[in-house]
Amino acid sequence: MAEVNMEQLLNCALCPNLCRCECPVLQATGREAVAPAGKARIASLANEGKLYWDEVMLEAAINCLACRGCTIHCPFPELNLCDELLYSRLPAREQGVNLPSVEPYLNNLRKYSSPYGQKAGALVTENQPGEKAGGQKVLFFNGCTSLANHPGSIEAARSVLVRAGVSFQMIEEDCCGYPAQVWGDEDMVRQLAEENRRKFKDSGAELLVTSCPECWLTFSERYPNLGQELPLEIVDGPTYFLGLIKEGRLEPVEKSVTEAPGPKVVSYHDPCIWARTAEKTAEPREILGAIPGLEIKEPYASGARTRCCGGGSMFQLAFPGTASAVAGRRLQEVPADAVLVTACPFCREGLLQGDKPVWELIEVLDRFFK
Ligand code: SF4
Ligand code: SF4
Repeated sequence: MAEVNMEQLLNCALCPNLCRCECPVLQATGREAVAPAGKARIASLANEGKLYWDEVMLEAAINCLACRGCTIHCPFPELNLCDELLYSRLPAREQGVNLPSVEPYLNNLRKYSSPYGQKAGALVTENQPGEKAGGQKVLFFNGCTSLANHPGSIEAARSVLVRAGVSFQMIEEDCCGYPAQVWGDEDMVRQLAEENRRKFKDSGAELLVTSCPECWLTFSERYPNLGQELPLEIVDGPTYFLGLIKEGRLEPVEKSVTEAPGPKVVSYHDPCIWARTAEKTAEPREILGAIPGLEIKEPYASGARTRCCGGGSMFQLAFPGTASAVAGRRLQEVPADAVLVTACPFCREGLLQGDKPVWELIEVLDRFFK
C-alpha cells in the first residue's frame, strides 16, 4: 500500500491557504472542512490517531475532484494533495466506515466490472486490419463512462480510426479501477488491474490509445505504482490523433466550416489531467486549428490554469449536487457564442447541463476530417 507523506500533509494543513480561490469544491460549497487545508487537517489528524474516521470525516476527506487546481498557487511543488488524501483515507474502509452514496457503484463494479452497471453489448471491434501501411497495432480503450453514456463518441472513434487506415481493435472492457481506488477498495483495484493486464496482453496490441484521461493516468502511473506494468505503450488520444493528422492519414474536409454542418465557433475546455498532469494543452488546439475556418475562443482560465468541470474522480456519482454547481460555475466562463469542445468523457458529462451543446474532440475529428 502507498505510504502517506506526513511532512507534506502537515505543510498543507498549516499553510496560509493560497489555493482557496482555485479549489472548486470550496468555491461551490463554502465549507471550510472541504478546503484543501481543511481536508489535509482531517487526514493528518487521522494519520496521527488523534481523530477517528466516521462518515462525516470521510465525506469531507473524499470531497476532492483530484483536479490539482490547488497546485496553481501552492508553495509546495512536491505536494500531491489528491494522492495524500486518497492514501490517508484507505484505513477508513478497513475500519468499516464507508460513504453510503458510493456503495451501489462499488457493488456494480464487483458484479459487472463497471460502476454504471451492466455493460452495453456490441461495442467490441474485432481486429480491424489497417488499410494504410505503417503504425502499430492499436487497442483503443473507451473507458466505462463513454461505454455507459456516450456511445456516439465510441462510434466516432471507430469511424476516425477506420478512415485513417489504422490497424485497431476495441475489446470487451473492464473498468480501469480508478473509481474503486477513489472509494477505498484497494483489493478491487488490484483485481481489475490484473484482469486488464491479461486482456491487453492477450490482444496482441502494441499501443493502447485512450480518450479518457482518468484511464490514461491509471494505466500509465497508478498501475505501475501497484506493481502492474502494462505490456504495451500507452498514449493519450489528443497526441495520437494529432499524429495521424501530421502523418497525412487524416485530412480536413475541403469545405470550410461555414458550409459544413457543425460548430463554427468553439471554445476548448482543458480537462484537468490532460492540462496539469499530462501537459497536453497544445495538441487539442492544434487539431482544432487544422480545421479551415473554425474560430477558437478561449474560456476564462484555460491551459494549465483550467478550472474543473466537477467530473473528476467520479465526483458526479458521489456528490451530484456539488458536481453540478462546479459545472455551472465553469459554464459561466465559456464565451456565450461558442460551442464547447472537450477531450474527456467526464468533462462532457459534467458540462452537459442546460441547453449548451458539448462536443468531444473525437466527434469534431469525425465531423471535420476525412
Ligand atoms: S494545497 Fe498548497 S496552497 Fe493549498 S493549503 Fe495545501 S499547501 Fe497550502
Ligand atoms: S485537487 Fe481540486 S478539489 Fe481537490 S483540494 Fe485541490 S483544488 Fe480542491
